[in-house]
Amino acid sequence: YAKEQGRNNWQLYERTLTTRTTARLVLEGDIRKALERGEFRLFYQPQVRANDGAVIGIEALIRWQHPQRGLVFPGQFIPVAEESGLIVPMGEWVLNAACSQVREWQRSGVMVPRVAVNVSARQLGTPDFLDTVAAIIAATGVAADLVELELTESILMDPEAKRIKGLFRLRAMGVHFSIDDFGTGYSSLSYIKRFPIGTLKIDQSFVRGLPQNADDAGITTAIIAMARSLDLGVIAEGVESREQLDFLQRAQCPKLQGYLFSRPVPPDEMEALLRRGRIVLPREGAGE
Ligand code: C2E
Ligand code: MG
Ligand code: MG
Ligand code: MG
Repeated sequence: YAKEQGRNNWQLYERTLTTRTTARLVLEGDIRKALERGEFRLFYQPQVRANDGAVIGIEALIRWQHPQRGLVFPGQFIPVAEESGLIVPMGEWVLNAACSQVREWQRSGVMVPRVAVNVSARQLGTPDFLDTVAAIIAATGVAADLVELELTESILMDPEAKRIKGLFRLRAMGVHFSIDDFGTGYSSLSYIKRFPIGTLKIDQSFVRGLPQNADDAGITTAIIAMARSLDLGVIAEGVESREQLDFLQRAQCPKLQGYLFSRPVPPDEMEALLRRGRIVLPREGAGE
């Protein structure tokens, strides 16, 4: 019986594995075609100043406008894009699209704050990363100071990386850097200052537990204090409720991002928001 079951399990395992591998390959091919066909879109989410709701930045987030499946979110394709290396051309497309969008908005008279673009570790590791970023900035004519690259915490684990030099060259051109999902990795904090990092983005998993969860509250407060003492900017991600806003305002977190202020929206909606310039913050005691 055990043997029989073992074999069934194995067959099940094998079948699942094959299905998964095939699905992955199909997806990989679809992503490649989608890049050629121009099916990717950027949505934008505002980052607001905690004391008055002024829109002081926006984050570009990729979406796939799939002809059959509709709007597909990055969780459904970024992992396969990473594994297959397609994240490199995809990342170039993202940066170029974001910089072009900034110029388009500026040409139509909109004041545009800094635009944050997510960069995967694999993209950062390519030998021509520096040149590609510099070329896109030059070609679109965007002010480098308006570009922020969100890196993952894992880059902090390799302080001798050759790429640090490239990052400092980009920083010297005006490009800003932040660490996304900060607090979830295993980076050695002492390495932060070896990189030209300007801002820490507190991961939304900590914000989610605010204000009740004592660990999350402690971690959040500690990151804000650490950022201040290291002279770094700090932004809390994933702010969804008035209670979280209250906590973060009291903790003097200077910048916030989350559904409470706005979901990521298509370019035309972001343009309207940028024309208004600020989001009215829900006031304490006013309910959600
Ligand atoms: P991320 O960079 O940490 O982006 C924040 C994610 O949280 C976004 O999900 C955003 O829509 C979502 N979010 C924002 N506010 C809230 C909130 O209040 N509550 C909750 N529950 N979620 C919130 P999204 O757009 O699905 O992106 C997921 C991840 O995919 C991103 O996490 C980023 O790691 C990756 N990603 C997105 N666009 C790109 C890209 O262009 N290039 C690369 N390499 N990665 C990207
Ligand atoms: Mg991000
Ligand atoms: Mg994040
Ligand atoms: Mg993330």
